[in-house]
Amino acid sequence: MSSLEPTTYKIEITGTVQGVGFRPFIYKLAQTYALEGSVSNDGSGVEIELCTTHAVLELFIEDIKTKAPPLSEIREICFSKIAPKIFRGFSIIQSDESGLKTTLIPPDISICSACEAELFDPHNRRYLYPFITCTNCGVRYSIIKTLPYDRQHTSMAKFRMCKACEKEYKDPMDRRYHAQPIGCYACGPTLSMDLEKVALLIKEGAIVAIKGVGGYHLVCDATNDSAVLKLRTRKKRPTKPYAVMVRDIDEASKLAHINAQEQKLLNSKERPIVLLKTKENDLLSKHVAPHITKIGLFLPYTPIHLLLLERLQRPMVATSANITDEPICTDIESLEKLEGIYDYVVDHDREIINGCDDSVLTVVAGQTLMLRRARGFAPASVKLPFSLQKNVLALGANQKSTIAIGFDKEVILSPHIGDLDTLGSVRYFAQNIETLQRVYDFTPEVVVHDKHPDYESTKYAKMHYQKSYAVQHHYAHILGVMAEKQITEKVLGVAFDGTGYGDDGTLWGGEFLVCDYLGYERVFHLKPFKLLGGAKAIKEPKRVALSLLFDLYGKEALTLKNPTTNAFSQVERKVHFVAWQKGLNTPLSSSMGRLFDAVASLTGVCQTMSFEGESGMLLEELYDPEITQRYSLHYQEGEIDFLEMIEALLAEKELHVGVSKFFNTIVEMIVHVASVYDLPLVVSGGVFQNSVLMGLVMQRVPQVIFSTTIPPNDGGIALGQVVFAQSVKR
Ligand code: ZN
Ligand code: ZN
Ligand code: FE
Repeated sequence: MSSLEPTTYKIEITGTVQGVGFRPFIYKLAQTYALEGSVSNDGSGVEIELCTTHAVLELFIEDIKTKAPPLSEIREICFSKIAPKIFRGFSIIQSDESGLKTTLIPPDISICSACEAELFDPHNRRYLYPFITCTNCGVRYSIIKTLPYDRQHTSMAKFRMCKACEKEYKDPMDRRYHAQPIGCYACGPTLSMDLEKVALLIKEGAIVAIKGVGGYHLVCDATNDSAVLKLRTRKKRPTKPYAVMVRDIDEASKLAHINAQEQKLLNSKERPIVLLKTKENDLLSKHVAPHITKIGLFLPYTPIHLLLLERLQRPMVATSANITDEPICTDIESLEKLEGIYDYVVDHDREIINGCDDSVLTVVAGQTLMLRRARGFAPASVKLPFSLQKNVLALGANQKSTIAIGFDKEVILSPHIGDLDTLGSVRYFAQNIETLQRVYDFTPEVVVHDKHPDYESTKYAKMHYQKSYAVQHHYAHILGVMAEKQITEKVLGVAFDGTGYGDDGTLWGGEFLVCDYLGYERVFHLKPFKLLGGAKAIKEPKRVALSLLFDLYGKEALTLKNPTTNAFSQVERKVHFVAWQKGLNTPLSSSMGRLFDAVASLTGVCQTMSFEGESGMLLEELYDPEITQRYSLHYQEGEIDFLEMIEALLAEKELHVGVSKFFNTIVEMIVHVASVYDLPLVVSGGVFQNSVLMGLVMQRVPQVIFSTTIPPNDGGIALGQVVFAQSVKR
């Protein structure tokens, strides 16, 4: 058949192609070619049928690739000949709800510039309307009940469009054609309080809970000492830094040093929180991020935030409304648990179906690192370097929980769920499993979980599934990076984190694993030490340090004078010594996170932590790049003995010298073990959130491989677990 002969073709497009204005884009494009045919959404993406010549078809597809709408992400376009059909004009047809649902859910994104312009245009009918949105911006994931992404499948279903909105919605040439969250003063969601008034209250020092995209924020004036302190006292959060939302880049650069890459992140359509180096001035209350020269800033991403900041004319603390490390509150009932923390609530009537925290990113040595993957980025999709044989459900770890489902070559990772320490968070965890299964019409054939028998995720697996498989925590950390970076060869994995259940029942966390997709060998690890008081040692660095002093000096440690021993009474020291000697509630650990804690205690930087990672953050502050010396370590039969380093550290006169040499020593440890194995080096685990450590490793080993789009902490575990399922023998 000649290529000039008209034929009926079907074009199938996969990727993020729903809820991003793809069908109207195709419609308009078809008009320019005067094509006849149709376009529709189905469970796996967008489907086009048309009648044309092969030559035109190729041009048309080329145009689709190059001119696709800004928020879309085409993964694959394929076409095939189908039985001849007669079309009249070009039409957009109703969604087909059958078939496998594999299309990617579009994430929630920030307000676009066109909507922002309309928002502040007194002649626009949506002037100052706090829910203005269009096809190119606004909520998606947070309002979706199921795919395909159509209004009746979202929490907008209950709002009946007015005539004016309906006209825009139905006009393929309009910017709001099929913009599912479309609405206006006459027909859309409404805010429970006037933003003018809210701004006044905040200026007066009030703490206001404001419903946003994926949940409520607790908001207060970031320049007001007593307001921020009040929030700290009420939230029982003494020192953990708060994120601050600012009107624009100009405001942001008054508060922090921002390079081009960081500016791009701040301004991106995902609008994450970006960790930045604080500028030395007193524009912000010193209580926002005490003792730390870093600040998490983000720009407004909804019309509500924009309007509020416009009235406030100052930066505001905007922290997730939740009980520490629990899931974000998404409805007024869950918010009630926080009663007494906020003074006022600004509510709205667009239901949040899927909760979603703010994402957190940082830039280290020119590399973007994802610390919390949530709004704007979630649900994440990762393409595997191989096809999964079965449908896999991975339940993740226990802290910074995320879950994942895997099918074919695809892994869908849930947003950050939180720590599974309360009934509420476990319920939310179960809800996330349900959501992913419903949205993707997914039934698991293999269930995987962490090896730790006491993790809530493990208990959930045991309770809900007949058969499930356990994956060693640190192996999962490394597998996650391998999957994200599509690495199929053998690697040397360095997993440094707080704790993870080891094969021998002890708590691992300073691990060197030679591994591939089939298994791993633990080749080196920190020499285990006792955690005085078990879990208590996780929050009290002084306990870890005291244990190391016992290792070094035995009973003589009781009479030593240093920041660690000084943090205990004589009696306490003796009690701990007896426990240490007899091994009472003193589990063994090889955790690098705990070693960081010990160093923070021995140097007097931190004895008791009020939030996870505090010791590492405080140590970062003391690092001096001018100091290049390090301590020596001893490698013996797979164990890394660091006690000599502890002894030398104690003798150090200057704080920053000891801390800097410690960092250098850890980097050298990685370099040394890497030199033994001629393998690609992969690093992962929560300790690598430390930007000083990560920066130094990148400097010393430029080819080091690490996660950039998935968090290095336990938020990345579920992805690694999916990959593990591949090696499960059935
Ligand atoms: Zn818009
Ligand atoms: Zn309307
Ligand atoms: Fe971990």
